[in-house]
Amino acid sequence: MELTSEQKDIVKAAREFAEKEFTDRAKEFDEKEEFDPAIWKRAAANGFIGSFIEEEYGGAGLGFLEHSLITEQFWRVDPGCGQSLCALSFGSEMIQAFGTEEQKKRYLPPIPAGEAIIGFAITEPDAGSDVTMIKTRAEKKGDKYVINGSKMFISNGCTAHFMLIYALTHPEERDVHKRFSIIVIETSTPGYEATKIHGKMGIRAANTAEVSLSNVEVPAGNLIGKEGRGFYQLMDFFNKTRNHVAAQGVGVAQGALEKAIFHVKQRKAFGGTLAKLQGVQFKIAEMATRIEAARSLYWRAAYLLDNGKPDPALISMAKWYAGETAVYVTNEALQLHGGYGYIAEYDIQRFYRDAKIVEIYEGSKEVEKAVIASELLKRVF
Ligand SMILES: Cc1cc2nc3c(=O)[nH]c(=O)nc-3n(C[C@H](O)[C@H](O)[C@H](O)COP(=O)(O)OP(=O)(O)OC[C@H]3O[C@@H](n4cnc5c(N)ncnc54)[C@H](O)[C@@H]3O)c2cc1C
Repeated sequence: MELTSEQKDIVKAAREFAEKEFTDRAKEFDEKEEFDPAIWKRAAANGFIGSFIEEEYGGAGLGFLEHSLITEQFWRVDPGCGQSLCALSFGSEMIQAFGTEEQKKRYLPPIPAGEAIIGFAITEPDAGSDVTMIKTRAEKKGDKYVINGSKMFISNGCTAHFMLIYALTHPEERDVHKRFSIIVIETSTPGYEATKIHGKMGIRAANTAEVSLSNVEVPAGNLIGKEGRGFYQLMDFFNKTRNHVAAQGVGVAQGALEKAIFHVKQRKAFGGTLAKLQGVQFKIAEMATRIEAARSLYWRAAYLLDNGKPDPALISMAKWYAGETAVYVTNEALQLHGGYGYIAEYDIQRFYRDAKIVEIYEGSKEVEKAVIASELLKRVF
């Protein structure tokens, strides 16, 4: 599979943007656990935010493959900065797929325009991988929902203007999968409170928060999709976003490999550079091969998705394998830096810390394997 010339141009533009905007500031953002909103505005002006949003709603109308290619380049240059931008549209996939025309016109255009940030609050302090254990309650009272609950580890929790809430609307339903709905709220609504989480291992530039919802009242018309169909809508959503996460893993791994190659070509030992040693060359070969395999998986998974044939098993394979590749490659790349890799002065230490998240969020690697197995066991060969 080869990229089209348009796709290659997108890769080049994303790479150049990231190199110009992230390179000199990534270390500072990581240390201060913050990001510069001016970069967000410039990324939006270049069409990188929510690039998959259809043109009629202000987006670039690109495919999910193209959005993943942008994500890979951003993460290749710096994962923390990359995530600070790529997460800003997290949730708009749900509105695009299931929102009414009125909801799409209200919530989508400000996102690619760089005027609003969206998030999606699913996880809770006592429920993560098992989304059927969510307790946040959205009770229908007249023409309103009243929402109460706590959400944990929410990307953009403090900075978002709109937040999708995964909530229990039908606790009486016997089938646990039919108990949930998705409701959009504006974070300026009384009762929404976010507390920033400090001390993350990686992607520290990106905002993550604990969110409390206390008698948050929103119109019943804020329901996205159908009541009781939230679980199924969420699975459709993950088919799209897990590709982006796979691209994150490939990006951080590619960036780490390039740093390792640069280092071993400079560093001298045993009468030459490290790059001349066969043991070092084997490491480089293995890192590069795993990256290519992970990239092929996400390209194919995203291509099928863009062509109306999403394959949940392939998407989960891409997400799991890219996460493992990210952790493996950043570990080997740090190893090749020796003692210097252990020092914060060198970017590779940050990449090593950043990589781990790819194995955790939007379905941990164990959850991805469970999806792969259950899909395969359903098929007749
Ligand atoms: C930086 C960051 C950003 C995030 N952003 C968001 C966000 O924007 N919105 C949001 O809703 N959530 C977000 N999350 C939450 C993330 O998606 C969850 O942390 C993740 O889904 C895992 O859930 P958990 O932490 O509750 O772990 P648990 O579900 O408690 O799992 C703990 C461990 O047990 C394993 N495990 C669980 N079930 C099984 C099983 N059946 N078989 C084998 N092993 C199993 C898991 O794989 C994991 O290793 C974010 C998390 C982080 C750290």
